[in-house]
Amino acid sequence: MSTTTKDISREKSAELFEKAKQYFPGGVNSPVRAFKSVYGTPLFIERGDKAHLWDADGNEFIDFCCSWGPLILGHNNDNIREAVTAQLSKGLSFGAPTQLENKLAELILSNNKHIEKIRFVSSGTEAVMSAIRLARGYTKRDKIVKFEGCYHGHSDSLLVKAGSGLVTFGETSSAGVPQAFAAETIVIALNDREALQEVFSTYKDEIAAVIIEGIPANNGLLIQDKDYVQYLRQITKDNGALLIFDEVITGFRLGFNGAATYYDIQPDILTYGKIIGGGMPVGAYGASNEIMAHISPDGGVYQAGTLSGNPVAMAAGIAALSILAQPGFYERLEEVTTAFVNELRQYIQEKGYGVKIFTVGSIFWFAFTDQEHIKRADEIDPASMEKYKVMHRALLNKGIYFGPSGYEVGFISHAHTAEDINTAIKAIKESLDIVYQ
Ligand SMILES: *Cc1c(COP(=O)(O)O)cnc(C)c1O
Repeated sequence: MSTTTKDISREKSAELFEKAKQYFPGGVNSPVRAFKSVYGTPLFIERGDKAHLWDADGNEFIDFCCSWGPLILGHNNDNIREAVTAQLSKGLSFGAPTQLENKLAELILSNNKHIEKIRFVSSGTEAVMSAIRLARGYTKRDKIVKFEGCYHGHSDSLLVKAGSGLVTFGETSSAGVPQAFAAETIVIALNDREALQEVFSTYKDEIAAVIIEGIPANNGLLIQDKDYVQYLRQITKDNGALLIFDEVITGFRLGFNGAATYYDIQPDILTYGKIIGGGMPVGAYGASNEIMAHISPDGGVYQAGTLSGNPVAMAAGIAALSILAQPGFYERLEEVTTAFVNELRQYIQEKGYGVKIFTVGSIFWFAFTDQEHIKRADEIDPASMEKYKVMHRALLNKGIYFGPSGYEVGFISHAHTAEDINTAIKAIKESLDIVYQ
């Protein structure tokens, strides 16, 4: 591996990682953090402020991972910090209702036209798992359809990947998931009408729900055609199946109305996470009053949580979403992102590099490809990830922090200043030069 720069010191991080390996499987508490897909060992982060991060070796980075999406306001936002601090002295958890839950719900429901009632949980995984149970309880059907290339957290029914063939029962993508669970999940390719038609003709009256990411952003950024998503809405409706929009990334990232409004459709159940808790662990699912009436204690679908609606997390969510609800917030963020992407695209074109930057809202994804569009998981060339590795290393050396995998998207936050963006553009250009040298 040849780079023009010397690698930054990761001595302290490497030492901490060695220790962590004694405590945790792979040294981490979530697998992608382990840097298995990029060079070196994970950076142990000491602190963050605005768009900047500092690691244990004292290296400073401009952060485009943003904790995988939640930090749309950057690190150490004044309002969120003050709201959390104020709540701390009142108590951390009561296991009883608080006004804070009402406030966050009101903020969401009055700005989101797609749901009438909401239930707070503690993670995106929990939100999706509950939404699936709700869909099954509501329709009294068992089968779920998901798409290859969409991630919905790590619940059993969704750790399933496509087998071979247009429409197949899933194969488990994790050890420990019973084959019988996988048999209830059908996996098909994105952006493929024919596969949808075949699913519904083969499993008529058995499908409880089709689940899709608002805009698939966990395996590259696979922006779907609008007419395809509208077709998906129609075919689910015609067959009495629910459409679950997993907006854990896109919710509050593409505005309060998320990807549902982007595609101009009304899903049946929507799930949220990441941004909704302002950096604290919060997830949620929501739907019409009629569908949500099936959740306990009103209805027969059981779902509960000791720390659900946690007051400190609610306080953080309220502080964050109050800022996001201000007029012009998303427009500004999108303008910054568009300018960032356009300047890089121009450079890439001038140099003739085989890189595409796909973008929506304040999400971006670097794909090392010559294809104009990538809409399905199987259109991503695994070999292209070698180039991402080289770019990732060069970026870290130049003080830019991207997620440690080429399948992951990047995020621009409100805390990224014009100076941060310009510094990053320069570093990214130089890093691409290293990739193609
Ligand atoms: C992150 C994510 C999840 C899982 O959320 P966790 O909080 O990590 O459990 C589910 N769905 C989508 C679309 C996500 O991006």
